[in-house]
Amino acid sequence: MNALDTYLAAMAPGMDIVLGCAGMSEDDLCARGAAEKTARELALLKEAYCGTTKFTRKRRRAIEGAQHNGHSIVALSIIEKYARKMPTLFDAWVLREQLCTTKATAGALEKLAQSKVPKKKRKVKPGVRIIRRKDAPWTLAIDGSSSFIANLHAAVENQDKKPLDVVEDTFFDSDTAQRSTVVTNVLVRLEDYVRIVNGDGEEITLQMTNGATLTGAQYLRRTLKEHGFITLVSPYEGAVNLYRTQRFANAKQRLMAGAENPVCPWPRCAKPADECQIHHLEPWLHGGLTNIANLSTACAYHNGANDDDPNAPPLRGRLARENGQIRWQPPDR
Ligand SMILES: [Zn+2]
Repeated sequence: MNALDTYLAAMAPGMDIVLGCAGMSEDDLCARGAAEKTARELALLKEAYCGTTKFTRKRRRAIEGAQHNGHSIVALSIIEKYARKMPTLFDAWVLREQLCTTKATAGALEKLAQSKVPKKKRKVKPGVRIIRRKDAPWTLAIDGSSSFIANLHAAVENQDKKPLDVVEDTFFDSDTAQRSTVVTNVLVRLEDYVRIVNGDGEEITLQMTNGATLTGAQYLRRTLKEHGFITLVSPYEGAVNLYRTQRFANAKQRLMAGAENPVCPWPRCAKPADECQIHHLEPWLHGGLTNIANLSTACAYHNGANDDDPNAPPLRGRLARENGQIRWQPPDR
């Protein structure tokens, strides 16, 4: 017998090794010279086969089966891994007994164990979910009754038009279709506007305050349908005030602040303006006015994180207007 044969022969009576661990902790096993991983494995097996359980008959059959079949420590560890995934202690012992009394290789035991562990099912609630991705298509997922989803699928699929065109026409082109009641602001720079009108629409991407983007051509189609608001923005002066002499209503200031910063301006934050709060750059408490020059979008978290008090020690930095644009200033400035 060479060293390999001796090693493999020693691995074979796995259950005898496990029973030999009775009364020993993981630390004890390490102290006896077991590697950490081996000690952990043995301690788990010892807990199952030497610990307390009310399923003593199943355990006895499992122990005898494993001894009879010569299951190695590797095989017993595989069985244990799947037994611990079973929903109840009873189910775990049914699995241990079944696999220990089965004569098979470790690989075959693993396949058998996999087929016995119940698959976890995601709980699906009826509703609509949106998945937003940067620079990639977004996903709208609809969960509903099978008949509703099947009808919906048939309605968009079984036509001459492309399914996406069917959906768009249904919701946005028909006179009878219900319009969205959420009004989103589309950000259009003056120089972009000129290019769109001149026919470069497909090449221009416009940012919307709900976090989505629109091509110039899509924008024109929407404009002609006359819904939503349009704010014109000058690259030199920021949001153009079309009603310069009038006092703004809050809703309008909100729309303009969102047009200027379609996402929270804090570095690396992507919260869309429609989900943001309106932040006073110079705090209201310190005399800051509610006019558009002093307002910015900021998500609830960063509105709270902003260093508002000019007399307090700076902590997280603050939003401020620099050369007409809203920028985050680090706390050490
Ligand atoms: Zn933010």
